[in-house]
Amino acid sequence: MYDIAVQVPGRNPLRGSYGAACTTARRVARVLTLCLLFLPAAGCQVLDGVLTSTFMPSPEQEIEFGVEVAREIEKGLVFVDDPEVVEYIRRLGRIVVSNSPQDAVVPTTFYVVQNGEINAFAIPGGNIYVHTGLIEASADEAELVSVLGHEFGHVVYRHGMEHAARAQGYGAMQQIFLGQEAGGIATLAAGMITQGVLLNYSRSDELEADSLAIPTLYSANYDPSGMVTFFETLKDRYGETSGGVGTLFASHPPTSDRIERVRQSIATLPPKDELYRPVNDLRRVQARMDQLGLTADE
Ligand SMILES: [Zn+2]
Repeated sequence: MYDIAVQVPGRNPLRGSYGAACTTARRVARVLTLCLLFLPAAGCQVLDGVLTSTFMPSPEQEIEFGVEVAREIEKGLVFVDDPEVVEYIRRLGRIVVSNSPQDAVVPTTFYVVQNGEINAFAIPGGNIYVHTGLIEASADEAELVSVLGHEFGHVVYRHGMEHAARAQGYGAMQQIFLGQEAGGIATLAAGMITQGVLLNYSRSDELEADSLAIPTLYSANYDPSGMVTFFETLKDRYGETSGGVGTLFASHPPTSDRIERVRQSIATLPPKDELYRPVNDLRRVQARMDQLGLTADE
C-alpha cells in the first residue's frame, strides 16, 4: 500500500534531475547505490523495468517528527484538563486501540481540545485530538467511538506521515531524517503544517480509516451502525460538502456513497447479539462539559 513509487526516469526525487544523455542503466545504478546507502530505511525495487524508490521513516523517526508537529500544532489548541472528561476519552481510546484489528507502529495518545467544531484529528507520531464539539454532538458512545476508531485508522496506516513524505519528496525526506542538520525535522514539521499537508487526506485514506473503525467497533461490542448514524447526522446538518465540518471530513465529507460503503461493510459482519450503543457515561461527561462551560451556548 505504501509502495507509492516515485518513478525514475523523469525527475529523480533522490538527487535532482538527470540529463537527457543519462541512460536508464546509469540511472538504475545510481539509484540502487543510493538505496544501498540508505538501507534499511529505503525500499527499492524494479517493477516492469521501472526503478522505483520509496522511503518511509521508521516508527522512531515518525515519533520524532510527531513531537515537532505537536509542538507546532498545539500552539493553537486549548486543552481540556478536567480529569473526568479526559479520562473518559482516554478510556474509549484504550478500547479502540485494544480492539483494532491492526496495531499502530507508534504509541497513541488521546487529548481533548476545547473547540465547538465537530472534529477530531490525528497527527504523525500518534497524537489524536478530540474536540469538545465532537463529544457534544455524539448521540451515543458508538457514534463517538466510531470517530475515534476512524482517527486511529489514520495513525495505523500512517496517512499523515505518508502525505508528508509525498509532499516533501521521498528522497528529500530521507535526507532530512538521515541528515545531521540541526532543526531539520522541526523545519519540515512547520512547513508541512503551514502547507496544510498532514491532514489533507485522500478519499482512499478516509475509506481505509473507516474500514478500520468498523471491525474495531464490532470487536468492542459497539453497534457499528453508530458510524452510519453519525455520518448521516453530519450529512443532514452540513450537506454533502465539507462546509462547517472542519478537518474531520474537510476533503471527503460523509457522502451518501461513503455512508453506503460503511453500511455494506457492516452487512458483511457475522451476526452478534451483544452490540450496544451506550449513553450513560457519555451523558455524564456531556453534563460535566456543560457544567464547566465547555459546550456551545444554545
Ligand atoms: Zn479521516
